[in-house]
Amino acid sequence: MFVRNYCFNCGVVSSTLICEKCKNKIKPLSLFGIRCKRCSKPLLDYEIEYCENCSNRKFYFSKNISLFPYGDYLIKNLVKLFKFDGVKESGILLSEIIRNEFFSNVKNFEFDLITYVPSSKDSLKERGFNPVEFILKKLKVNTFNLLGREKHFKKQSELLLNERERFIRGQYYLLLNKGVDIRNKKILLIDDIFTSGNTLNEISRILLENGALNINTLTFFRD
Ligand SMILES: [Zn+2]
Ligand SMILES: [Zn+2]
Repeated sequence: MFVRNYCFNCGVVSSTLICEKCKNKIKPLSLFGIRCKRCSKPLLDYEIEYCENCSNRKFYFSKNISLFPYGDYLIKNLVKLFKFDGVKESGILLSEIIRNEFFSNVKNFEFDLITYVPSSKDSLKERGFNPVEFILKKLKVNTFNLLGREKHFKKQSELLLNERERFIRGQYYLLLNKGVDIRNKKILLIDDIFTSGNTLNEISRILLENGALNINTLTFFRD
């Protein structure tokens, strides 16, 4: 077994990527005070119930809860190692970090089934796994893989913000051969990072158009 010697953050000897002391510095969003009722983002002084993003637009999902701030330096680095460098150890650590927050928040949703945002075939091939599904498996959450994703033509990060929404249409589709009837079902949709909410919004639209009763979303991290 490969044993790493030092915490990537503070450099002390550690058998895991990040030492206990640094891991304990990571604070969940639930400790951040007042958050947007729609998307879970911590609110600025002048924002009342909703953040600026949510007061200006309509989402198909009812509510999003995010667990940890993506702006946290330690989270960001662990996510980068996991998603972009494919370091599974980092994914395992992330699943441990979010475990308690995940289950205490999931309890507050009413749902019939849980699904997650799919990876494209290209990134599945490249990375070998879907990072959201990977973490959910580590948390031993029962999920249904309801959705597929078209081939990537451009990375979302390469698009301007206003291009993303247009681009995202037609990216996702419902897998019809799975034998799961979503009609009149309450669905909890899970993704790793909430940025603009466009992906979750588009998938929620598809699920609702196919008869789902309502959609709530949960994301591990909030950008
Ligand atoms: Zn450390
Ligand atoms: Zn919001």
